[in-house]
Amino acid sequence: MSGGDKLDFEIRPNPAPVSVADRAALLANPGFGRVFTDHMVTIRYADGKGWYDARVEARAPIPMDPAAAVLHYAQEIFEGLKAYRTADGGVTMFRPEANAARFAASARRMAMPPLPEEAFVDSLRRLVEIDRDWIPAGEDGSLYLRPFMFASEVFLGVRPANEYLYVVIASPVGAYFPGGVKPVTVWVTPDYTRAAPGGTGAAKCGGNYASSLVAQAEAIEHGCDQVVFLDAVERRFVDELGGMNVFFVYDDGTVVTPPLTGTILPGITRESVLTLAAGAGHRIEERPVSFADWQADAASGRLREVFACGTAAVITPIGEVRFPDGGFLIGGGEPGRVTMALRQQLVDLQRGGAADPHGWVRRIL
Ligand SMILES: *Cc1c(COP(=O)(O)O)cnc(C)c1O
Repeated sequence: MSGGDKLDFEIRPNPAPVSVADRAALLANPGFGRVFTDHMVTIRYADGKGWYDARVEARAPIPMDPAAAVLHYAQEIFEGLKAYRTADGGVTMFRPEANAARFAASARRMAMPPLPEEAFVDSLRRLVEIDRDWIPAGEDGSLYLRPFMFASEVFLGVRPANEYLYVVIASPVGAYFPGGVKPVTVWVTPDYTRAAPGGTGAAKCGGNYASSLVAQAEAIEHGCDQVVFLDAVERRFVDELGGMNVFFVYDDGTVVTPPLTGTILPGITRESVLTLAAGAGHRIEERPVSFADWQADAASGRLREVFACGTAAVITPIGEVRFPDGGFLIGGGEPGRVTMALRQQLVDLQRGGAADPHGWVRRIL
């Protein structure tokens, strides 16, 4: 392709797909991120040539030269979204155009060529079409789609690569909370930060996760499920979790989340929650929340609920907070009413069971 935004995909069906019986066994309990479908999408990019060789092909290992630039300087970005099976046998996705736009924004930040947004959405549709039998049936399941792109050029110099590979893989996933929604305990790390002003915090790049893993391990060591990062400058204000945005609900119904100042990943769930909460009559504030205020407002009872949100878990109540000097509960450690209502509203929308006034649900098949 050069010029237009439309790519022609060559379809090469997997000659040896997983058998129907084996697939059914895998779909019975897929967990998260360990079962994969029969196919993948690949698209190549080279400077001067543009995007080319768009394919749907058998999922297989990617041959890579040891000097491929991504292995040395981490020029890599990704996305995550889900495809849902509808009651009438169709397939929908939730706001895929927003993921396409964010993927392009991440690419620009990492000095990578942005994939045309139409080609991004088309690549997802192609993969879901050929692997649609991998979407788990039933209430809780979905097909998690993982588009990603990395510098494939064989070169050790430090500069933006001039060759890239874009890939989409798909993974059937079951319920995030198999036994029903359970509040998580979070660890506010005193040692690590996730993103600094001017850094890559707003880009969905693998490097942000690489640097967060030690903090997540610290959270686990302290008996917590997830880590919360404070701002890198003053270590005072709440940024977000390792892979989820955070919300605070006060006794007067106000719903607060930290503002997007470049150090927070602009979550599509975050944006959707803001819209839904405003629609439900809540006052919405995007403003900094200090950890000191978080503690004080939890102690006074003014802060009623805290939750985290992202594509994988949708909305997760936070029931307990721990830090080196102590810890405290939120809402007695139970899921809050506003949290659970927003969660239900979002899940109903995503699964096609509710009216869609914002035009967020895309029927793809
Ligand atoms: C992907 C991600 C989120 C959530 O984004 P969604 O679009 O809602 O899935 C939040 N924080 C980080 C660091 C992320 O990588």
